[in-house]
Amino acid sequence: MEQALAVYNSLSGKKESFKSLLPNHVGMYVCGPTVYSNVHLGNCRTFISFDLIFRYLQHLGYKVRYVRNITDAGHLENDADEGEDRIAKKARLESIEPMEVVQRYTVDFRDTMKQFNALPPSIEPTATGHIVEQIELIKKIMDEGYAYEVNGSVYFDVLRFNKDIPYGKLSGRNIEELIHNSRALDGQSDKKNPQDFALWKKAEPQHIMRWPSPWSDGFPGWHLECTAMSTKYLGTQFDIHGGGMDLKFPHHECEIAQAESVYKKSPVNYWIHANMLTLNGKKMAKSTGNNMLPNEMFSGENSIFNKPFSPMVVRFFMMQAHYRSIVDLSESALEASEKGFHRLVDALQKLDSLEVSENSSGFELESWTQNCYTAMNDDFNSPVLIAHLFDAVKYINAVSNGLHKINAEDLASLSKTIRLFFNEILGLQTPEKSEKDSDISQLEETLKLLINLRDKARVNKDFETSDLIRDRLQKIQIQINDTAEGSTFKIN
Ligand SMILES: [Zn+2]
Repeated sequence: MEQALAVYNSLSGKKESFKSLLPNHVGMYVCGPTVYSNVHLGNCRTFISFDLIFRYLQHLGYKVRYVRNITDAGHLENDADEGEDRIAKKARLESIEPMEVVQRYTVDFRDTMKQFNALPPSIEPTATGHIVEQIELIKKIMDEGYAYEVNGSVYFDVLRFNKDIPYGKLSGRNIEELIHNSRALDGQSDKKNPQDFALWKKAEPQHIMRWPSPWSDGFPGWHLECTAMSTKYLGTQFDIHGGGMDLKFPHHECEIAQAESVYKKSPVNYWIHANMLTLNGKKMAKSTGNNMLPNEMFSGENSIFNKPFSPMVVRFFMMQAHYRSIVDLSESALEASEKGFHRLVDALQKLDSLEVSENSSGFELESWTQNCYTAMNDDFNSPVLIAHLFDAVKYINAVSNGLHKINAEDLASLSKTIRLFFNEILGLQTPEKSEKDSDISQLEETLKLLINLRDKARVNKDFETSDLIRDRLQKIQIQINDTAEGSTFKIN
């Protein structure tokens, strides 16, 4: 499978042939969640996109060090370095310790990622665990003359930096435009210019998350942690930096400026950004109610969709779009994905019982395999890969129906390749029937039988029997409802 992997680099705006800094090794940093609330589906999409990338790079034989941070301090409510720390605010509102907030939502995040079958990163560093590194980095930036202290806070001097090294490369903004679009400082601010951003903030007396520093008891700026942690674990120059599209500016632009101010070189070779997820055509937002948590989607306990969707169906749905396209979650789109997912799973399950022939017919296995790799090598194009997987599904069904033939060798090779792409690369799992599931389905079948018998009794006007069944079931908390379409049951 000798062909080059092409990766779309947000920095150049082009697909580039991927070449790692060290042979066979890839360093990848992805901005992780701020753990002040349950992880939302949009974030899940970003992390699932990078899970695909992580899995494919590993499959290509790279030893990948994947670093994804947990932001547990320093992320303020807005990007202008104002407002409360998101975690401290949640702790205040719920009268608990900030670290209780962090613990609760870190657990939720990891649990949700596990349900989506996303592999854990190699290192998952926290901002609060790297205060020392962040203070050291601020000192270096100050030594280079690109940061200044005012009243115990330290700010990055964007205009000063831009005189030496251009600022705005990633987001394509130039400094004049930024100056033009910035709100004027209100006189309350310590900043010299509105474009500047905080590296260290002095804590107000009521601010509970605080650490000592040479400048004040305070806390680090949000952009700083990623530069401190990525360089600590991946070096001052590494292969891939990823995140959601919304982080391009200002977060990633600030990361570039921080690193370049000290190390005088571009910190990242390939910037990769995953696009957003909308719900019923609109941006997801708690404030408008157009919002759903992953678990609400899995359980069906939400007011937006009529039925639950399993984590694997949602993952498959996300994989059916390219990571750089916007994806819209809707019930009809998810239902279509669910059908497709089951068709694929059914075909995989048929593989073991296919009858083999002397020769194969009706399928070009070698070129099909090549097509699967070509799709993934083209900037991780999972929707095209999935379309190829469905070509194989058609073939498997045709063999199963006796319309085509497959020999033993081809069957072994097809099974291996399709499972490789399905399980290892797309990260999908075939639903396994657990013991509990089969207990439940046995119970359901028994109930259906009882209800059938009761319906028959009612037709025959044998109300003694029909009432007996209803009353005995009611005693064990099973409710029968008679509707126009027939009887249904509910287990209380
Ligand atoms: Zn970051």
